[in-house]
Amino acid sequence: MDDTVVGRFAPTPSGRMHAGNVFSALMAWLDARSANGRMVLRIEDLDPRASNPRNTELLMDDLRWLGLDWDEGPYFQSRRQEVYREAIHALDEQGLLYPCFCTRAELHAASAPHASDGTPVYAGTCRDLSADEVARRAALRAPATRVRVPPADDPAGTIEFCDLVYGDQREVLARDCGDFLVQRSDAVIAYQLAVVVDDALMGVTHVVRGQDLLSSSARQIYLQHVLGYENPTYAHVPLLVASDGRRLSKRDRDLDVGYVRAHDNGPQRLLGRLAALVGLAQVGESVSADALVERFSWDVVRAHAAKTCIFTKVADWG
Ligand code: GLU
Repeated sequence: MDDTVVGRFAPTPSGRMHAGNVFSALMAWLDARSANGRMVLRIEDLDPRASNPRNTELLMDDLRWLGLDWDEGPYFQSRRQEVYREAIHALDEQGLLYPCFCTRAELHAASAPHASDGTPVYAGTCRDLSADEVARRAALRAPATRVRVPPADDPAGTIEFCDLVYGDQREVLARDCGDFLVQRSDAVIAYQLAVVVDDALMGVTHVVRGQDLLSSSARQIYLQHVLGYENPTYAHVPLLVASDGRRLSKRDRDLDVGYVRAHDNGPQRLLGRLAALVGLAQVGESVSADALVERFSWDVVRAHAAKTCIFTKVADWG
C-alpha cells in the first residue's frame, strides 16, 4: 500500500445505504485498491437533523459485509468544527466572506436562475451591505456566511477540470452558482467547505462519488485554490435509477442494503449486479469486491456510463 492514491468513502448517515450509495462506494474502493492506494472513511454528520448514530453503525456494518474496507477513520465531521473554523478564518482574512440575511423564500424567488444542482444562483443581494446595515440586520436574525466568487470576466472564476468519467468540465462561478454558502444561518458548516477542508487534511487524492455532485466540484476546486490546497482528481459515477425511472432514494426501503441482506444470500450477488452495470461483471454473475480489483478500469466504466444504469428491485431478481 502506498500514499500515491488516497480515496475516501464520505457517507451522510441519513438512512440505510441504497444500491446507488453502494455503487459509488464500490467505485471509490476499486479506484483506490486497483492502484494499491489507501481508503479513508469519513462520516458526514455535520447536520445533526440529517444524521443519526444508528445509521452510522449500520453503514459501517454494511461496508464490512460488502468487503469494502478502509485503512483510516472513521472521522466524524461533527467533531471537526475547529478545522472548519480555521478555514473560515483564513477565507475571512482574505476579505472573501460576508454575512447573508436572505431568507429561503427570497433565495428561491421565481425569477432566480438555478444552478444545475437546483440551488438558486445567488444574486449578490447581501454582497455590499454597509457595516451599519449588517449591524441592524444582525440584531434581528443570525446571518449565513457566503464566500465571494470572482466576477464573470475574471479568469480566476472560471473553473476547468477533467472528470475521469464525464470528461472536460467548465463552470463560470459567477454565472453558474454565484457567491455560495460556507456556513448556514444555524451555524452548521456548509458541505462545500467541510468536504474541501477534510479532503485536503486527510490527504485525499481521488474523489469518486455520485454524478449528482459533479456540479459541486467547481465550487470545491475554487475553495481549494483560495485555501492553498492541492486539487484532487475527480471521478463521478452514474446515478442508478429504479426500473420505473426514479432515482434511487434512501426512502425506498426495498432498494436498500438492509432489504438485500434480509432477502439474499450474500454480498456477491449485489456486487455482481452493480459491477455488471458498468461492464465489470457478466449479467447474473456473483463476484466479491476483491475479485473486481484486477478487472477495474475507468476506460471500461466510462464506456458504460452513458447508458442509464437501472437497478432492479431485489424482489425481481429471480
Ligand atoms: N456526503 C455526501 C453523500 O453522502 C457525499 C459527499 C462527497 O462525496 O463529496 O452524498
